[in-house]
Amino acid sequence: MSIPLSTSGPKMQDYASPVPCTWCDGCGDYGIWGATQRALVGLGLHPWQVLMCYDVGCHGNGADKMSGYRFHGLHGRVIPLSAGAALANPRVPVIAFGGDGASFSEGVGHLVHAVRSNYQMTFVLHNNANYGLTTGQASALTAQGQKMNSSPNGIPEETLNSMDFVFSLQPTFVARAFSGNIPQLTEILKVAIKHRGFAFVDVLQACPTYNKFATHEMLLERCYDANKEGHDPADLAKARALATDTSARIATGILYQNEERPAFHERLVARQGMTTVPVDEVGIVDMSEYMKELV
Ligand code: SF4
Repeated sequence: MSIPLSTSGPKMQDYASPVPCTWCDGCGDYGIWGATQRALVGLGLHPWQVLMCYDVGCHGNGADKMSGYRFHGLHGRVIPLSAGAALANPRVPVIAFGGDGASFSEGVGHLVHAVRSNYQMTFVLHNNANYGLTTGQASALTAQGQKMNSSPNGIPEETLNSMDFVFSLQPTFVARAFSGNIPQLTEILKVAIKHRGFAFVDVLQACPTYNKFATHEMLLERCYDANKEGHDPADLAKARALATDTSARIATGILYQNEERPAFHERLVARQGMTTVPVDEVGIVDMSEYMKELV
């Protein structure tokens, strides 16, 4: 997508909020919060040039920890409200933040259709493999058998293979990052925000309070930058294989990228040839003549 640039560049302090962060010490949310601001500043975007939407969850408590246009929606519904905003004004980059709990349970239907629709937006998955806000409940991404507060004997269900699931939907952009590697996450977000269509960014993050199995140290040891090892993000089959094999190491980086497929709004027949976007066309219309037909 082409992003409108301003003549004077933004600074990190432009994104500062007077509201202090309340996440636990060592929470991965800090890394994602910092990398997001760095990416936006790096792209030359002021807080008034981007929309950030938040699902419910610990990460969602970050909705007032950054300046700018922000929307904190209902649990599991961050994708449709973000997609609606992006359709109304495709000139403005929209970033949606959601947790693994909401995104792969309550809101999983929205995720399916956002990927296949290729809406013009970035989706950042805060993936700590549990519902942290509700004190350590198992999510669909918690390892099968893992003992959690809500399931002291371990969850009986199979764990959802989230990357295999996303790749089965024919995505146009898939990346994976680790919240402890802020420089890499910053660069991934910069590419994702400019992507033509739906960019899925899976960020593995520590939750030291409730996730005792995928710790910061474990992620630090196992994550590696696949792009630096020569991975070609143009190959869908290779990207899927790389993303789903986490048996020894965990591949991070831009795993798949396809800029050829049009975004949803570009395919709308009724919008072809239009020089305006829907928000430009909002006006006061006299409906009285139409109303007569209804009485
Ligand atoms: Fe972060 Fe976990 Fe604490 Fe929530 S409970 S703020 S996810 S460390």
